[in-house]
Amino acid sequence: MSIWEGVNFSHRFSELPSAFFTRVAPQPLDNPRWVVWNRDLALQFGLPRQADDELLNVFAGQREFGSFAPLAMKYAGHQFGVYNPDLGDGRGLLLAEIQHQDGTWFDIHLKGAGLTPYSRMGDGRAVLRSTIREYLCSEAMAGLSIPTTRALGMMDSNTPVYREKMEYGALLIRIAETHIRFGHFEHFFYTNQLAEQTLLADKVIEWYFPECVQTEKPYAAMFEAIVDKTAVMIAFWQAYGFAHGVMNTDNMSILGQTFDYGPFGFLDDYDPNYICNHSDYQGRYAFDQQPRVALWNLSALAHALSPLVEREDLEAALGQFEVRLSQKFSELMRAKLGLHTKVDEDGRLFEAMFELLNQNKTDYTRFFRELSYLDTQAPQAVVDLCIDRDAASAWVDLYLARCELEVDQQGEVVTSEQRCERMRRVNPKYILRNYLAQLAIDKAEIGDFTEINRLAEILKHPFDEHPEFDDYAKLPPEWGKKMEISCSS
Ligand code: AMP
Ligand code: MG
Repeated sequence: MSIWEGVNFSHRFSELPSAFFTRVAPQPLDNPRWVVWNRDLALQFGLPRQADDELLNVFAGQREFGSFAPLAMKYAGHQFGVYNPDLGDGRGLLLAEIQHQDGTWFDIHLKGAGLTPYSRMGDGRAVLRSTIREYLCSEAMAGLSIPTTRALGMMDSNTPVYREKMEYGALLIRIAETHIRFGHFEHFFYTNQLAEQTLLADKVIEWYFPECVQTEKPYAAMFEAIVDKTAVMIAFWQAYGFAHGVMNTDNMSILGQTFDYGPFGFLDDYDPNYICNHSDYQGRYAFDQQPRVALWNLSALAHALSPLVEREDLEAALGQFEVRLSQKFSELMRAKLGLHTKVDEDGRLFEAMFELLNQNKTDYTRFFRELSYLDTQAPQAVVDLCIDRDAASAWVDLYLARCELEVDQQGEVVTSEQRCERMRRVNPKYILRNYLAQLAIDKAEIGDFTEINRLAEILKHPFDEHPEFDDYAKLPPEWGKKMEISCSS
């Protein structure tokens, strides 16, 4: 029986006109071998539980496979605020779409598959360390229920790749509901290809926003939906302490899914000015700038959509961004504190909390996790995370007094056990700290892939206790807090 039996393929993107892409075959990797195969995810698409040589040879470009029609997408985008018309899949290829067991279609995309017409000065390759980071982070985000692309697996090879030092080529098999970015629309707008721009919008509506067809102004409704999904994604990032690092418009998915993992980082100590990208000298993409940048990016998209959508509709949709973001952010933060009812003084409680976290540079993830054990534990563990213990104690008192006012839908008082049990389902014990990713990378670079699998497993269930993995929930070592991650991937 073929390993592909039971897998449904489609080629809807490759049926678009040639202005959308260039057909390119992957450049085979030398001596490829599996690093990880995401078994749970593979099974959801009817793919085999076990990665074998046939899968390896097809994905590594060693063998052609009739159900794949590899192509490099053309797009453009604003990078660090500057428009670049020359972007596109420079090392990525779309192979086909495959159907999830729930009926949804996903793109299968290779990252690191070799040169394309859009490679510019690059070599078309990806290195093992960045591939591992993307794999782990997309699993971590999925575990936290944050909208994200995923990966079916990755492989490494003996193909030499030169970065700051000699490394080896690796390949990520990424899946995502779409690889269409803001930059796709920008490309057709800035090259005055209105027919293609219209076709792109029609396809985006048909494939991803079918509910817009029935509306009076489908293109305006599509943009509103993109604004909404982007706002929700950013609310998740801010609530869970995720910094993306390279929020260029070519890295913004039109479905509001976290996309293109590079020098990302989760907050260790709470620091709103955290800059995870070592090459971001101005702090354009600092943690607390992300909401502002997302709106800037949406405005760039709005500009590109101006031939299709009236100005006032674009402005109205942009005006909804902050409303939607703060609504979702507040919903997520309330859940993190176990507060489901609203009381006038809550604003003050939240303000005081962020002030405390900021002044004490408290570990962001641990703070909420420790608050989730106040049913069985004295507040000491929370207080111990702060240098200013009096201030921490005062805040915890305020918080516990507020919790006493919490009632459920029937008007019954919510017990601390009920509250904490719910909080432990939204406040992760485990997150992908940069140093944990680095330890997995160090082992992988000497051929031991066990740590990647272990870490991915833990991160898939970040709210579970897993006492055997307590070490992974510890505060990071000093060296782990100051890691510099650059774009060179
Ligand atoms: P990124 O910063 O990964 O989002 O990439 C920005 C642009 O550079 C995209 O058009 C990528 O396809 C391209 N690119 C990044 N790395 C490489 C590489 N090693 N070879 C060719 N193109 C690349
Ligand atoms: Mg990119």
